[in-house]
Amino acid sequence: MRGGLGIAARPWLLGPRRPTSAHRRLPQGSGRCLVTLAIESSCDDTCVAILETTSGGGSGSAKLHFNERLTADNGGHGGIVPNVAVASHHARLSPLVRKALAFLPASGGGDGDGTRRRPDLVAVTRGPGLLPALATGLNVAYGLALGWQVPVVGVNHMQAHALTPRLVAALASPAERRRAGASASASFPFLSLLVSGGHTLLLRSAGVCDHRILAQARNVAVGDALDKCAREILPPEAVAGARDVAFAAQLERFAFPAGPGGRGYGYDYAPPPTRAAEIAPYRSAAHGWTLTPPLAGTRAMAFDFSGFYGQVNAVVRARAAAGGMGLDERRELARAAMTLAFESLAGRVVLALEAIEATERQPADTLVVAGGVASNRFLRAVLRAMLDARGYHRVRIVVPPPELCTDNAAMIAWAGAEMFEAGWTTALGAHPVRKWPLDPDEDGGMFGVPGWLKDGREYQILY
Ligand code: AMP
Ligand code: ZN
Repeated sequence: MRGGLGIAARPWLLGPRRPTSAHRRLPQGSGRCLVTLAIESSCDDTCVAILETTSGGGSGSAKLHFNERLTADNGGHGGIVPNVAVASHHARLSPLVRKALAFLPASGGGDGDGTRRRPDLVAVTRGPGLLPALATGLNVAYGLALGWQVPVVGVNHMQAHALTPRLVAALASPAERRRAGASASASFPFLSLLVSGGHTLLLRSAGVCDHRILAQARNVAVGDALDKCAREILPPEAVAGARDVAFAAQLERFAFPAGPGGRGYGYDYAPPPTRAAEIAPYRSAAHGWTLTPPLAGTRAMAFDFSGFYGQVNAVVRARAAAGGMGLDERRELARAAMTLAFESLAGRVVLALEAIEATERQPADTLVVAGGVASNRFLRAVLRAMLDARGYHRVRIVVPPPELCTDNAAMIAWAGAEMFEAGWTTALGAHPVRKWPLDPDEDGGMFGVPGWLKDGREYQILY
């Protein structure tokens, strides 16, 4: 049904529809098609996506109509500045939503008059993250939901990262699925290693809402630590005045420059065959400094990168005092720092696999590596080599494409759609959540925050 007022100019304004419950007007079960508009604004990226899903779940298919990200300009500040990030969300979110609306799928009326389908739900990151940044996204989402009279799903950002492999599987074309066979699926259970600027988390996912934390960062996240290390290790001229503060990506390019003909550097990497070798210090034969791997003295299921950054910093300071570092030495330090950081990630994955094998009936045979640091090709090489060296050849490593690995709204749309399919929505006006664990053992986990609605009960659209 369409109204007659300026529809072509404002194609998202379809005709009046006044359901009392968002769930009542959507057919349940497989085969239904959902269009989700999603917003992500938990940190300094303003992201909007439009995703169409059919049937949901790991066996469903998906089409990404729009997926854009605008990052706040942190240049000159040496890191993310909350006020700058929030101002950027305020300035850019609504225009980005307006841009996205032109990419909504056609309404399917068959008359080709350019009218667009109204989204069935609005998914938005509700936490964890920076409260005023999250609030910007939530408020726009509530406004859209009120205007369209559709439900909101307030998504846990970490759940969305964890479910990304299912989005990737659903986005694959039928031909890609046939080619990839079993490896195209993303069925539970699987392990996820989320490595980003804000998180370092090893999770076991056994269902859409069933995520157990196996290890997490005690202090700074691995991406943040690598960014800080990179700021010290990279030649000063590469750092001075840089607008992009994600120096870790630059560190990878510096450590492993492209070989002749633009071909990638062949990693001369031999994995430590035992845990004893893994926790032995790295000694630079040429320059005399030493780096001790993070958490070398314990098998505790955790990650700790702040002391490690301190070590790198100390090496650079000591060498500066002794006359400075040449390019070759900086490159050796870059490789050593990345090797030890990544082996510490891989070491905890191995410990987790050993523990799962000893206690669980269904061993995980997929490791999903997501988050910005997952773009690092050397990390993937270290993980593969260490899993093989410790007898885990059967565990396949799945890395979503970079645009779905860094913060993005497509993953929020997918997680929102999966939650919606499972009957979950969020009350209008629910607050943003700064700290929002996934694991039910921690403060009730995902459902430990108020504002969830199940099967639309109590859900009232305010208009
Ligand atoms: P996210 O928080 O998921 O947006 O990821 C951003 C983090 O990933 C930042 O700390 C980046 O420096 C880091 N990152 C991006 N690319 C790479 C790379 N190639 N190697 C290591 N870290 C990276
Ligand atoms: Zn993230």
